[in-house]
Amino acid sequence: MLRFRRFSSTLRQTENALKNYKIGDLISGYQVNRVVPIPELQITAIDLIHSKTASKHLHIDTVDTNNVFCVGFKTNPPDSTGVAHILEHTTLCGSKKYPVRDPFFKMLNRSLSNFMNAMTGHDYTMYPFATTNSKDFKNLQDVYLDATFSPLLKQEDFFQEGWRLENKDATDKDSDLIFKGVVYNEMKGQNSNADYYFWSNFLGSIYPSLNNSGGDPKSITTLKYEGLKSFHKRNYHPSNSLTYSYGNFPMEDTLNKLNEKFLQYDKEVHDLAPLEPTNLQNGNINISIDGQFDPMLPAEKQTKISISWICGNPKDTYETFILRMFSKLLIGGHSSPMYQRLIESGIGMDYSVNTGVESITSVNLFNIGVQGVEDIEKFKEVVFDVLKNFEDFGSKKIEGILKSIEIGKKQPKSNFGMEILYSILPGWVNGIDPLNELEIDKVLTRFRTEYEQKGDDIFRELVSKYIIGKNTFTFSVKGNEKFQEVIDEEEKIRLNNAVIELTEKDRKDIFERGKILVKKQEQKDQENIECLPTLKISDISRLGIKYDLTNSLYNESVNIQDRLTNTNGLTYVRSKQLLNKIIPVELYKYLPIFASSLTHLGTTKESYGDIEDEIKFYTGGVSMNVNVISDPNTMEPNLYFKMKGLSLNNNSNHIFNIWNKLLYQTDFQKNSSKLKVLIRNIMTNNGSMIVESGHSFARGYAGAFFRTSRSIHEAMNGIEQIKFINHLNDILDNEKLFQEEIIDKLIEIQKILINDSFKNTEFLVTSDTSSQIGQVKTQLYEFVKGTFSNSSNSTLNLNPSNFPLLQGNKPVHILIPAQVSYGALSLPGVSYTNQDGASLQVLSQLLTTKYLHKEIREKGGAYGGGATYDALSGIFNFYSYRDPNPIRSMDIFADVTSQGITWDKRELDEAKMSIFQSVDAPVASSNEGLIQFYSNIDNDMRQHRREQLLDVTLPDIDHVAEKYLANAQTKKVVLGPSNDAFSNAWDEVSL
Ligand SMILES: [Zn+2]
Repeated sequence: MLRFRRFSSTLRQTENALKNYKIGDLISGYQVNRVVPIPELQITAIDLIHSKTASKHLHIDTVDTNNVFCVGFKTNPPDSTGVAHILEHTTLCGSKKYPVRDPFFKMLNRSLSNFMNAMTGHDYTMYPFATTNSKDFKNLQDVYLDATFSPLLKQEDFFQEGWRLENKDATDKDSDLIFKGVVYNEMKGQNSNADYYFWSNFLGSIYPSLNNSGGDPKSITTLKYEGLKSFHKRNYHPSNSLTYSYGNFPMEDTLNKLNEKFLQYDKEVHDLAPLEPTNLQNGNINISIDGQFDPMLPAEKQTKISISWICGNPKDTYETFILRMFSKLLIGGHSSPMYQRLIESGIGMDYSVNTGVESITSVNLFNIGVQGVEDIEKFKEVVFDVLKNFEDFGSKKIEGILKSIEIGKKQPKSNFGMEILYSILPGWVNGIDPLNELEIDKVLTRFRTEYEQKGDDIFRELVSKYIIGKNTFTFSVKGNEKFQEVIDEEEKIRLNNAVIELTEKDRKDIFERGKILVKKQEQKDQENIECLPTLKISDISRLGIKYDLTNSLYNESVNIQDRLTNTNGLTYVRSKQLLNKIIPVELYKYLPIFASSLTHLGTTKESYGDIEDEIKFYTGGVSMNVNVISDPNTMEPNLYFKMKGLSLNNNSNHIFNIWNKLLYQTDFQKNSSKLKVLIRNIMTNNGSMIVESGHSFARGYAGAFFRTSRSIHEAMNGIEQIKFINHLNDILDNEKLFQEEIIDKLIEIQKILINDSFKNTEFLVTSDTSSQIGQVKTQLYEFVKGTFSNSSNSTLNLNPSNFPLLQGNKPVHILIPAQVSYGALSLPGVSYTNQDGASLQVLSQLLTTKYLHKEIREKGGAYGGGATYDALSGIFNFYSYRDPNPIRSMDIFADVTSQGITWDKRELDEAKMSIFQSVDAPVASSNEGLIQFYSNIDNDMRQHRREQLLDVTLPDIDHVAEKYLANAQTKKVVLGPSNDAFSNAWDEVSL
């Protein structure tokens, strides 16, 4: 029935769009170019052009209520000063109509948007937001248009966001000068990530014309304020802009606002020509540079390398599609020839980050690369051998990939408007028709027909056209232990050169400027921000949306919940098996590698590659993982082994076949060499993961001193797990230890799960008809019945509450190879159901936006900082991200309560508004009820929490600040490079 309703409303929507908009129509200054229904995505695309300025607009008409708006510009970076990136930051610092400091950050608290951001791409800049509230949509569209087209671009904003010289001690004019600035520090931080470093330098080498749009710290400090202003004038013009809207709000209103703004402009001719890569006509190019040394990897495995070919133009949508198919077949998945020959053979520990097809501006790049490689010649030899001699992939594999593309398209999504935007904008700025990207069915049909005629020769033609015998671009980064010193030295020399040139007057000006900036930062916001539009607390509904799950005991033995909703012809099955009483605590740290092994190793009879082909052919994916979650009432840990699978309705039985194979038949002994590959693979990626989310690692580590659920989480996902993986890696070559310390343990876990026969398991079935749900329940029952056993489990150390907390009284400094630090200070709060929890959550939001943003980001120079409240674990956290000054941040966190901060009603309302952005963010239909299923938070508890949050008062805030923050028992953890400022008062941990 639901399905019927959906179909009828979609049809009506499409008919409306077709009826209302005709080609050639003029709507609010825009002319309709095309109206294209795309029934497989349940959308209609309307392509328009602004008559006066030739600005292009694409509207996606749909019943989806999560509306999106975006203004984008083509921004070819003229040099590597990061001018496009710094402009993206400074446009958000105040505009003509909204002349307040940081209107963007302030709007974050006056809106119910579920997405607000700005991004700098390699040759474009985009400003998108998403919201389900129509008043909000209009407010934000106003603020975004004014910010981008009429920014104030004050010099002080350039200094603040871009770069500046400043006295180290702002009160002492004789103290040393240093480089500061948000983007400057952001890019120093980015470069600490070895994956980003490889990627950006690869791109900069093969595409010198792209000039590192984010900014190279070496060049950022050459950018002048005038350069920023002229870049804006040149590029942020309607004739050089692309705008986009998506959703069920009236397109006319959106166009009206655009027209109002654009009418003041005349048409300009902008050079939209896509940038070209380096010229390979005259021979191979080989570039090698130094990079980060990864202390977790052996010295001989510090090289990352890739080989690239230029393969046609992304404008040829069909050929680009074939190239992408070829890449998936050749490189993706365990049975693919490149994976077998490069990764499983041990030539590399994992692929390099650029591996695959990249369609950038004017060309498609096909890249194959590895990290952790020792024998570079061997790598090259194998790559060429595979490309010359690959065997037919066969129709089953190919159909598997086509089917997974189709299922991916059918899956319900809560952020479909953003997803479409991301997929079209980078090509659109370079003249690629955005509808090509959307009308995927046309391409699939053409490919299927042609494949029937030509078979795998489709791919061989492509390889001989672009790859065999063609010139290549080889890029490598070699880890150098002195790399960091070289970078620091360069910065020192650059700083010296800048300082030497200064006159006495310059120095005085710098000191005065620094003083003014600090003064500004220290003033509590007194400016009148009432010019900014806002939603009110009354715009938040007191009653939240409920997602009821139907609970049943199937055949009196299997606990199955179900959810009937619009899943677009797909079935989702999820399980959670409570491990509390069956897995001994000593084995917890093995659980993540156990879960990963199931989807990597293979069984006694089948290789994992064959199973993977089956997964692609019959399902939309199968996954397994382990996690620990706190009980909402008691905060006691619940440890779950979880499985998930989805498929077209008529293939749901395959989910159970595959679960059965993976869980019961995975053969750890026989596939021990694949297990080694997996462990190396995990280890290779840990370094980048730490620098990407160091604040989460710091927070997780600190929490593990207070709550058992957090110490278990730490052992399975945190720094402790990384140390454990490093240890496993050390014993991979010792067969005896490898057997005892790894294989035997994984087999033991598998036995325990098998013996349990799903006695401790609950299932959730989500689909779109009752008959399908009934059918799946029968399949599920058959699956479980086949596993019944009578054996009882051992009685070892089985209570997760016995899992030890991390111990120690000192703050902890965890050494990582990075230029910047990440800090956390944590302290205990209360359980989810406790009223004080809601007040603590609002307090964390108040502190973040009204105090810490200024202290940690603006004054401290960190890229981010704030407070969060982990409601289920009951832990209050302060954190800083890419922080040049972590000890200072720690002091600020520790002293928060002594600052005598007071809040007013408006600030309280704004904090609640921010919280409800995520509370009320749209949920994909396939995920309805997941909070209840996985976290045991039912509809009533959620509604109760909602009311608690809405009802928090200013005295409540003072009460919890006093009760929990003042004189709290706290834990400080900093992740970062070694630093003399950390004295003996800190415990030091190395990975
Ligand atoms: Zn940025």
